[in-house]
Amino acid sequence: MSRMRGVSLCLCLLGSSAWANPAAPLPGSLGHTQALPTLPAASSAPTHDTLAAPVKPTPPSATGKVAVPAPTSAAPLQTDPSQPKVSKPTLPPAPNAYWLSIIIDDLGGNLTRDRQVMALAPEIALAIMPDTAHSKTLAHEAREQGHTILLHMPMAPATGPYALSPEQSPTERAERLHQALQQVPGASGVNNHMGSRMTSDRAGMQQLMQLLAAKRLFFVDSRTSAATQAAASAQQAQLASLSRDVFLDDQNDLAHIRSEWRKGIALAKQQGSALLIGHPYPATLQVLREELPKLASQQIQLLPLKPLIALRGNRAMAAHGSGGIYQPKTTTPAQGGR
Ligand SMILES: [Zn+2]
Repeated sequence: MSRMRGVSLCLCLLGSSAWANPAAPLPGSLGHTQALPTLPAASSAPTHDTLAAPVKPTPPSATGKVAVPAPTSAAPLQTDPSQPKVSKPTLPPAPNAYWLSIIIDDLGGNLTRDRQVMALAPEIALAIMPDTAHSKTLAHEAREQGHTILLHMPMAPATGPYALSPEQSPTERAERLHQALQQVPGASGVNNHMGSRMTSDRAGMQQLMQLLAAKRLFFVDSRTSAATQAAASAQQAQLASLSRDVFLDDQNDLAHIRSEWRKGIALAKQQGSALLIGHPYPATLQVLREELPKLASQQIQLLPLKPLIALRGNRAMAAHGSGGIYQPKTTTPAQGGR
């Protein structure tokens, strides 16, 4: 896929200060009874006027550029002047598109494989594990190529030197997060690896979101458990966050991945955007290579994570809450799962 498609979106508006702390609709300000706006009918022309997110893309200007408005009440991101300036992924001016963001998890262990992920599209976010041999090298290369980098943080039932669990003291969890971030330099956000047990621990998630807020990092809830408290805790803390909509490759076979891809496309057209998470399996990469070039003809635009955060404005999608407010299921997460 060409890396220079169309006219660049004005990502400058989403730069270091614009997205980190979107004006998150919270229970107090939004109200539990406020319904999501009506979704566009499948047969009608797409219009972002009907999307749930309070931040809407504006029509193309006379210059042909599309400006995505920045959320208000922004807090500045930490910036490191020693880091190299990188080119941003380019986006075609497609105000009538539906939006799709993709994260590939579990990276850092195999540079040859992980470079294939980077080659797919610059908008794809890389979730790098801290306890892998190449985490720092990959993070450096990904940053140079303009990818969003996530710390893919192991959480219970995951184990290991960085894994977070409810039994640890808040001090130990804070130290583990600090150490893990050292292994993935340039990460602008965090998502959970496994974590069905940890993310269902409300107090632990509240602490984590406070830690991330202090570090100006956003959170992506991988939703490995329906009982996850992560996104709800992030929303309560007014921390920029997203929740995964579709896992591409719960089953590592082509037919299943193609089916999940179609679900993701359908969901993007239903609710305006969709966030997909996959793994660097050969079958997943094959499907992405086949399907990414077809997106434009389907009115789908690939979007990096930060603009998606801005577009959604921290609101929960319909499958994860009501009226934009995250509502975790109260079911006990399965033991021994992920
Ligand atoms: Zn993972």
